[in-house]
Amino acid sequence: MTEIEPVVIKIAETRVDADGVRKLMEQYNASDWYNRIKTAQPNDTELLIELSGRMCYKSYGVGLNPNVTKIREDSRDYLTNVLSKGDGSILEHATVTFAFLNVSRVCTHEIVRHRAGTAISQESLRYVRPQAISFWVPPDLRSVSSEFEESVQEITRHYHELESKFDWDRMTFEEKKRVTSALRRILPDGMATNMVWTANHRTLRWVIEMRTDPSAEVEIRKVFGQVAEICIRDYPLLYADFSRTRLPDGTSQYTPRYSKV
Ligand SMILES: Cc1cc2nc3c(=O)[nH]c(=O)nc-3n(C[C@H](O)[C@H](O)[C@H](O)COP(=O)(O)OP(=O)(O)OC[C@H]3O[C@@H](n4cnc5c(N)ncnc54)[C@H](O)[C@@H]3O)c2cc1C
Repeated sequence: MTEIEPVVIKIAETRVDADGVRKLMEQYNASDWYNRIKTAQPNDTELLIELSGRMCYKSYGVGLNPNVTKIREDSRDYLTNVLSKGDGSILEHATVTFAFLNVSRVCTHEIVRHRAGTAISQESLRYVRPQAISFWVPPDLRSVSSEFEESVQEITRHYHELESKFDWDRMTFEEKKRVTSALRRILPDGMATNMVWTANHRTLRWVIEMRTDPSAEVEIRKVFGQVAEICIRDYPLLYADFSRTRLPDGTSQYTPRYSKV
């Protein structure tokens, strides 16, 4: 058995098209706003969300909408106000894509329950026939880790025994797929797999809150603890209201001041 740790890597994020934004701002007579903000706010994600929100009231400057007599100039004030009012729909404009590596199928099954605002690609056990079977040992089983390892080795042995009953070199790709899919039925939920997961920031705030809660499973808490740290580091205004509490098992809970925006 290969023992591993869940790993989170940020692999993509939303970028603005500067020429397009410039053209749009000309249409709105709001070039002054853009020229000011593009140096003060180098973060594309936060800029796009602010730009989209300001379109709703034409609040790029006083006078563009005769009903607006004052605006929040500062991006931090603007976005904090959005969060405090629960106007989270504009957070859906920007997404982040993560690779979750060495996560169990227990964990991925929980992740896919979050439907709104996500995109998912998971390594297929119909197409991919595993060779080594890797596991993360949960803290509650550390005291019996050798027995845990023996059980995993036993299952792995049975898996490869069954696998060896088939003449893989003579099978078509379709036949291999069918048998690989049938064989996976004896593999444990705890085996490690990989997933690419994309979510918008409205969803991310919610899933971080839910899945780092002390009542969540420890593995998903480890994964979303890493997601939270990346989001707080890379989108400081959007996650400024999150506070971190260390939990006795070494994981952390991340609690927003404004829940479910
Ligand atoms: C600690 C913990 C324990 C859990 N235990 C269990 C369990 O024992 N059994 C079990 O089955 N599940 C369990 N779950 C999973 C849970 O029930 C949810 O399915 C999961 O957390 C997804 O969250 P969500 O419903 O907020 O959906 P998301 O897809 O994350 O949606 C976000 C929000 O969008 C809105 N929304 C999304 N879809 C719809 C819709 N179709 N209609 C209306 N509004 C929508 C809702 O307001 C929702 O909260 C558990 C989750 C946690 C965190």
